[in-house]
Amino acid sequence: MWQFSVDGKPVLCRARVSARARHVRGMVHADGRVELVLPRRFRLSEDDLHRLFAQHRPWFEQAIRRLRRVPRQALTHGEESMRVVRQRTETMVRAYLAELAHRVRFSVHEIRVRPYKTRWGCCRLGGRLSFHYKLCLLPRRLAQYVVIHEVCHLFHPNHSPRFWAEVRKLCPDAEECRRALRTYVP
Ligand SMILES: [Zn+2]
Repeated sequence: MWQFSVDGKPVLCRARVSARARHVRGMVHADGRVELVLPRRFRLSEDDLHRLFAQHRPWFEQAIRRLRRVPRQALTHGEESMRVVRQRTETMVRAYLAELAHRVRFSVHEIRVRPYKTRWGCCRLGGRLSFHYKLCLLPRRLAQYVVIHEVCHLFHPNHSPRFWAEVRKLCPDAEECRRALRTYVP
C-alpha cells in the first residue's frame, strides 16, 4: 500500500494480483479506489513493486485529477425498495435484449441483476450477463448502452478495437454514452 498526495489531498494505492491481467496497469475506480494491478505470473520483489508504483504515479495523478473534475451524481431510489428497483431493471434489460436480438445474433444463458460497487454490467464466460440493479435509474440511452456493451462482450471478451467497432454498430453514440456514464455513481 502506498500513500501519496494529489493537489494536497491524500490518496491510497494498493497492489492487487489479478488472474486475468496480462500487463501491469494502474486503475483509478469511479469510487476513488486506486490500484496497481499485477498479473499473477509475475514474481515481484518489494523493490520491483516500488519501482512499478513510481512508474505509474504520474498516470495515477492525471487520472485522479480527471476524476475529481467530473461532477458526479449518485443514483438513489428514495422510498422504493431495492427489490422493486431490481425487478424494474430486470424487466428493462430483458426488453432491451429482445430488441437487440432483432439486430444481432447472440445467446444469453443467465441474467443477473445485483448491487455492485462500481460497475454497471459484466459479461462472463458462457453467456452470463450481470447488471447493476440501479440500471433502470440511469437515463434510458445510457442504460441501453450498458446492455449493448455487455452483449458485445459475448463476441469480444476484451476492449479491443474490434469490440468497440461492434458496439458502435449497435450504438453510434457509444463514446458519448461512455463519457456521460462516468458522471453517475451507482
Ligand atoms: Zn467492457
